[in-house]
Amino acid sequence: MSQNLSRRGFLGCACCAAVSVGIAGRLPAFAAEGARTNLTPDQALETLKEGNRSFKTDSPVRAVQGRERRLEIARGQTPFATLVSCSDSRVPPELLFGRGLGELFIVRNAGNTVDTAALGTIEYGVAQLGVPLVVVMGHERCGAVEAAVKVVTENASYPGSIGRMVEPIVPAVIAAQREGGDLLQAAVRANVRRTVSRLRTASEPMLLEPLRAGKLRIVGASYDIDDGSVDFFDEG
Ligand SMILES: [Zn+2]
Repeated sequence: MSQNLSRRGFLGCACCAAVSVGIAGRLPAFAAEGARTNLTPDQALETLKEGNRSFKTDSPVRAVQGRERRLEIARGQTPFATLVSCSDSRVPPELLFGRGLGELFIVRNAGNTVDTAALGTIEYGVAQLGVPLVVVMGHERCGAVEAAVKVVTENASYPGSIGRMVEPIVPAVIAAQREGGDLLQAAVRANVRRTVSRLRTASEPMLLEPLRAGKLRIVGASYDIDDGSVDFFDEG
């Protein structure tokens, strides 16, 4: 292995490198010192809503990208929203919200759950990058939520790590059963609400303090695959 490759293997991505360096003390900033979005939580949410309106109506979206933007943010990022969303290929956050480079700090996994890595990522975005908005977004006909529904209704089991991955969604399915109606869709929303609630009551002051101070909002959302709209709910 060349020195270059082994160095890359050790450091991983810039994100991981930054965190590993900070283990012993203060976390180093991704962004240039003091550089943070100047959007308020409400403005950040409205910006996402506007972008989604353009996306769903096929209006031209001028997402910030290209060489100039790349250079502008090369030395520091100032994202204005953190998205917790599903890995589903039909649900790419930047496209759904008409956003470009350096605007969204994203956690994605099948079923948009929050494990330790996801929670740390969210906390980092808020505490270190000054992100004023966290959106937990489920979506219609989510395969991971459907897998959890089958665990509850058919006692299904899955190979490898898939079963453990959908476990955190099972309580949402059970809660959704009490609501009646379409179980999968109700479970998608219940899964989002549970995560939003957990983030709002997380014991770490990194989220609680900015929430209390009005510098952070944590909201739920669901994406409609058919018409392209994001329905925000549980806006807090
Ligand atoms: Zn999904």
